[in-house]
Amino acid sequence: MNSRYAATEETGTLHHGERERVTAVFIISAPSGSGKSTLVAGLLDRDPSLLFSVSYTTRQPRGNERPGESYNYISREEFETRIQNHEFLEYAEVFGNYYGTGSQILEQARDEGKDVVLDIDVQGARQLKRRLPDAVTIFILAPSRDILEQRLRARSEDSEEVIQRRLRDAAEEIRNYDQYDYVLINHRVEQSVDTLSAIVKAERIRRIRMEDQVRPILDSFRARAY
Ligand code: 5GP
Repeated sequence: MNSRYAATEETGTLHHGERERVTAVFIISAPSGSGKSTLVAGLLDRDPSLLFSVSYTTRQPRGNERPGESYNYISREEFETRIQNHEFLEYAEVFGNYYGTGSQILEQARDEGKDVVLDIDVQGARQLKRRLPDAVTIFILAPSRDILEQRLRARSEDSEEVIQRRLRDAAEEIRNYDQYDYVLINHRVEQSVDTLSAIVKAERIRRIRMEDQVRPILDSFRARAY
């Protein structure tokens, strides 16, 4: 059996041979300061048929983050109970906190006829790609270390110590870029959102995601005896 179906059958979403639309899953990763959140927000604004996967986390809300929008904030205890109950499609520990993708997201996307966007780290991307080999992975990079540093300072959210740690973490994360299908160097926001939209559009017409639309066309030809 195709592992795409095997992976999603666990959540009861797709079954081999059914004429279901195949949900496209877009995984976006980037070191902090690369502009990922802005780009993801721009992409979602442009494309109403994308569903953002709101992760679960044990970290505290920051700034103007709102529960249920940026993240679902839960305790470590609750997170560990959910791990035991297999309620995550993937999860990882990042900067001392747990982050995880709820396993209901694929079913929700299928029910709403949407494709999914996940903003997750490199560990999560690796786990998910193993479970969903057809997931599309995109890595976003700042154009250089200096520009990343400028951007981290410009958003003036972090102390000097945190900025230095983020730069070290970025150096580490960037080494994983070669596990991704696409690499987007974020020079200018508008242009990068255009590129992300182009990736989404192109991936949607991959043959495996078109079967449900192609079949009725083929049937219409079969119905006529030539
Ligand atoms: P932040 O705390 O800055 O919002 O996120 C820290 C890191 O955790 C980012 O790299 C972000 O992509 C990642 N992250 C957010 N949600 C998830 C998730 O559900 N799973 C995994 N593996 N990483 C996540």
